[in-house]
Order: sequence, then structure tokens, then C-alpha cells
Amino acid sequence: MNELYPEQMYRHGVLRTTKAWRQRTERYRLVGSECRSCGTLWWPGRRICGKCNSRDVVERQFSPVGELVTHHVGQLPWYVPPVGGFEVYGDTRTMALVRLQEGVYVGPTDVVDCPPEKIRDGMRLRKVFRKLRREGNGNWQYGFMWIPDDTV
Ligand SMILES: [Zn+2]
Repeated sequence: MNELYPEQMYRHGVLRTTKAWRQRTERYRLVGSECRSCGTLWWPGRRICGKCNSRDVVERQFSPVGELVTHHVGQLPWYVPPVGGFEVYGDTRTMALVRLQEGVYVGPTDVVDCPPEKIRDGMRLRKVFRKLRREGNGNWQYGFMWIPDDTV
């Protein structure tokens, strides 16, 4: 945090610019991979199937809807600032494990725009694109989060 960037900056060193660039398709478009030998789906994507060791693996974009498997409501750690254009309920942050329509598990990710007391395991979720955090050099990192899917 300084006068140039009033928000708390992320200094933990886990998600840096280069890593964010390498992970851009999976974090922006939810792209994983599919093994053409055994049909297993992977997220994050990989180049060799972890089940049958086949290299015949192709990229696959997963659907932006899923089901909440389990979640945890907790306090924000100091290095994760409550910024990013989503509604924050105090210092509370809801982390979730989500099962997509295809059966792939994604997480931990955030559930946003919903009061924590209304979040239930098994509820339908829809992917949204949000700001995640600000890096030490001032770059914004973007990624997906989940909101309750009221359209079904
Ligand atoms: Zn396989």
C-alpha cells in the first residue's frame, strides 16, 4: 500500500505476472483439457493425461455453470485486499469448490455478490469475470468468480 496504489497490494509472490500470463486461458475462459484416449477432463489443463498417460490431449473450454460442492466462509487474510468491484460483506470472503456441468472440480474460488448466510452447498452457480488482486507493480490480475445462478 502506498500513495500511488491506495489498495493493499499482493506481495505473496504466488501469482506473479508471468504465471498469470501462462494461466490466462484457464483463468479467463475456464479452458482445461480433454484426453482423447480415455475421455478424462482436466482443470487446470495438462498436456499428458494423468489417468492413462496419453499425450493425445486437447484443449477444451468448460461451461460457465456449476454446482457448489462445499464452501468456507472466512476472514480476508491481510494480503488479499477486498477490492475488485464485487460486493464485499465486511471482511468476509466465501471460498468454494465448484463442480462444473462436465463433472470437473474447480477451486478454491470465490462466491461473490451473495450474502454468506444465503450460500448453500448444492446451489447453482454461474461464472463471472472479476478483478482478483493488484500485483506489486500495479497490474490488475483478473480471473473468474461465482455468483448464484437465478436463471435456472
Ligand atoms: Zn487419458
